Amino acid sequence: MAQAHPYMTPPPAPSGSIHVVVDLNRCQAYAQCCFFAPSVFTLHGEEALWYDPEPDASQREHVLRAAAACPVQAIIVQWRDGSEPQINRGAV
Ligand code: SF4
Repeated sequence: MAQAHPYMTPPPAPSGSIHVVVDLNRCQAYAQCCFFAPSVFTLHGEEALWYDPEPDASQREHVLRAAAACPVQAIIVQWRDGSEPQINRGAV
């Protein structure tokens, strides 16, 4: 049976909620995040991004994909313990 190399396996994510911050000075309203996590990110008008800073744990994968897809890396995600997940920006 094949085993993953220990350095290629990311540490397990902490359970529980996540915290999201969007740097609105950096955001260019490209709306990629709205596509990947529509219940967390919503674009109002052409420039105003609304987002849920404490999305439900069920949205974790969607939020991580949104953060990876943001072309200006404006989305910051933190686990509840304050650590940040590794975001694979090349995977989207
Ligand atoms: S993908 Fe990034 S730049 Fe586009 S709306 Fe979302 S946060 Fe802003």
